[in-house]
This record gives sequence, C-alpha cells and structure tokens, in this order.
Amino acid sequence: MKRVAILGSTGSIGTQALDVVRMHPEALRVTGLAAHSNGGLLQEQAAEFSPKHLGMYNADVASQIGALAGMDGLIEIATCEDVDLVVVSVSGMIGLRPTIAALDAGKVVALASKEVLVAGGSIVMPKATPNRLRPIDSEHSAVLQCLQGERPDQVNQIILTASGGPFKGWSRERLETVTVEQALNHPTWCMGGKITIDSATLMNKGLELIEACWLFDISPDRVQIIVHPESIIHSMVKFDDGSVIGQLGHPDMKLPIQYALLGPERITSPSKPWSPIDTPNLTFEPLDEVTFTLPS
Ligand code: NDP
Ligand code: MG
Repeated sequence: MKRVAILGSTGSIGTQALDVVRMHPEALRVTGLAAHSNGGLLQEQAAEFSPKHLGMYNADVASQIGALAGMDGLIEIATCEDVDLVVVSVSGMIGLRPTIAALDAGKVVALASKEVLVAGGSIVMPKATPNRLRPIDSEHSAVLQCLQGERPDQVNQIILTASGGPFKGWSRERLETVTVEQALNHPTWCMGGKITIDSATLMNKGLELIEACWLFDISPDRVQIIVHPESIIHSMVKFDDGSVIGQLGHPDMKLPIQYALLGPERITSPSKPWSPIDTPNLTFEPLDEVTFTLPS
C-alpha cells in the first residue's frame, strides 16, 4: 500500500490522479491533499478520501476550512511521516520547494509540474537518485517506458511528439488575430489553463525538451521534436542500431499518472485501451520553426 499526497489535487492532473487512486484502493491510499484556493472541491475530496493532512496555499481559505496554509503547509504535507509518494501537480514552479523537501525526506515524487525541472533541474536531479523522480508528463512517461530494460549508453536520440496545438499550419500574420478562447481550445488534450496556452504557442514543447534533458541526462541536440497531430504516440526513443521504440495510447493523462504511481507494475487503468483500428492513420510533420519562434 502506497501512501500518497497530492499537491494540486483540485486541478486537471490532481483530479485524474484521484481517479487512479479511486480505481486501486488496495494499492493506493491518500494521506494528504493540497490546493491553492478551491476550498469547496478540496473539502469534497477530503470527504471521499479522508486524508490526514489538508493544505490550502491561500491563508484565508485555509483558516476557513482548517487546513495547513501557504508554502509551509505544502512542505509539511510533502515531508510528513505517513506519506510515501508525493504527486506534484501544482501550476508553475510553486512546486519546486515541496519537490526538493520531499526528495530530501526520502519520498518518491511523481512530477507533473515540468516547471520544477526547468527552473531547478540542477538542484533537484542529484537528490532524485535512485529513481525517486517519476515523470507524469505523457512524453516523458513514454520515454521512461521505452527505456525499460535498455542500456542508457545505447540511446541515440529521444523523439518527443507534439500535437502542433490549435494553430498548426497558421501563418504569423494570422496568429496576430488569435483570441484567448481559440488558444484554450486544444485539439487533443484537455488540460489546465497555463499548459494549454503554453501548448498553443509550442512553449510547452520547449519546456518539455529541457525537462527531458534533466530526466534522461541527454544533451538538447539529441532531442528531436516532431509534430504528430493525432497524439497517439506519446514519444519515442531511437537506439544506436537504428531501432525506434515508441509508447502508444489515447491522449489520456490517467495512463502516465498511473505509471508514475504504480509502474513498472501494469494493472488495469481508468484509461480506455487503444487499438490500431481506433486511429488507423498516424501522421508526422516537421516542426514549423519559422512561425513558432520568438519575435526578433
Ligand atoms: P490546473 O490549473 O488544472 O491545476 C493547478 C492545480 O494547482 C490546482 O489544484 C490549483 O489549486 C493548484 N495550485 C495552484 N497554485 C498553487 C499554490 N500556490 N499552492 C498550492 N496549490 C496550487 O493545472 P494542470 O493540472 O493542468 O497542471 C498542473 C501541472 O502539471 C503544470 O505544471 C502542468 O504543466 C503539468 N502538466 C499538466 C498536464 C495536463 O494534462 N493537465 C500534462 C502534463 C503536465 P486551485 O484549484 O485551488 O487553484
Ligand atoms: Mg506533455
């Protein structure tokens, strides 16, 4: 039985992590939940999962519902004795200090918040050995799955897939008229606001490239990004013999979340299994580096 704390339990990843826990009560138990200010949902979750510890970053809401407050509260939950694994799924780099504290306290961290490695990879990675940092991001989970049983020194290239976002194929001129609503309308994934906007600009893929370099100890020139609009192949690894191994599934974060929580064990998950007949045409395009670049 793994005792799990979820920082960011009211968000897109957090609620799906709870879906995974709900399906495996024999293997996973929630002992801590924390969010920013959504006290109503946190209380509903607390009523269902009976965690020992509740955290609320916003001090006013924290005092209303009797939760631990602020960064200190997040760190207390991430390090407390009755937690084995901490899911870090808060938005942005607010998860950096709780991640470091959890690793220092000997916990396993299932990391969704890629900003943690982008901002603090050089501090976090040395603390994460052996294998105590488990990626939730679908691309990095795919790479980890492709590397099982393989020799890291025989990895030639990591191939990260990108859907291309809602503006794939658009010109820079056309992009000038984009609205927030259009940018929030992702073609394949349903996610929180910040990552959806980052996906529309392809900034997300830049963050993921940095995340991959830290997680798999590989230089950026050996990470290729390829557009794959169907979002079925979640990423691939090319080995020195030319063989390419990929991980496939519907675009559904519950699968990589479950792998981060329970892998390498593979038991039924809340995700619908994928079959080749479901998506007979898988397509690939090079990244449009002319349109999706920083303004000069
Ligand atoms: P959401 O916006 O859906 O959820 C964010 C969560 O973090 C909420 O629970 C929010 O609480 C909580 N939160 C925000 N600020 C704080 C804070 N200061 N203290 C405590 N809790 C806080 O985001 P996502 O779930 O989409 O993304 C979370 C992370 O996971 C991001 O780093 C993202 O890049 C990464 N990720 C997400 C994927 C996805 O499919 N959604 C895929 C891969 C990575 P409240 O509800 O109270 O505001
Ligand atoms: Mg991703």
